[in-house]
Amino acid sequence: MSQRTFSIIKPDAMRKGHTGAILADIEKAGFRIVAIKKLSISKPQAEGFYYVHKERPFFDSLTTFMSSGPIVALVLEKDNAIGDLRKLMGATNPANAEEGTIRKRYAGSIEENAIHGSDAAETAQFEIGFFFAGHELV
Ligand code: ATP
Ligand code: MG
Repeated sequence: MSQRTFSIIKPDAMRKGHTGAILADIEKAGFRIVAIKKLSISKPQAEGFYYVHKERPFFDSLTTFMSSGPIVALVLEKDNAIGDLRKLMGATNPANAEEGTIRKRYAGSIEENAIHGSDAAETAQFEIGFFFAGHELV
């Protein structure tokens, strides 16, 4: 069944010039781009987005990183979009990511790991609404 997920190309991947390659990988994997924008987020905005991780030891470092430069926010659609994007991304730590995954190809570390993808339907809904208005989803 067709499903939507939310993704971010993180600041590390943009700084290294991998934005176009990652978008091409996503399209090649069969995702339709429903919405796309380049923007920068503030530290408080990053804290709001990653609120579920607020008790984790890496929260301060993660939100500083996510607000350190431009990102690309994406809404993506395909059958099983949430699970398939997580598969295409690879493991959180690129050292454990499988060959051919985005994190294996482009991530530098467990924190600066190139891409975000929603982990469940409710998370996807929250994350899409955090970045996009309904009229931007086309
Ligand atoms: P994302 O939510 O960004 O798609 P994920 O679901 O694979 O990644 P999470 O456990 O949700 O991983 O962690 C969110 C993000 O926090 C990771 O993508 C990474 O940038 C950062 N992170 C996770 N674990 C660590 C860690 N041990 N040290 C530093 N940063 C971490
Ligand atoms: Mg996550």
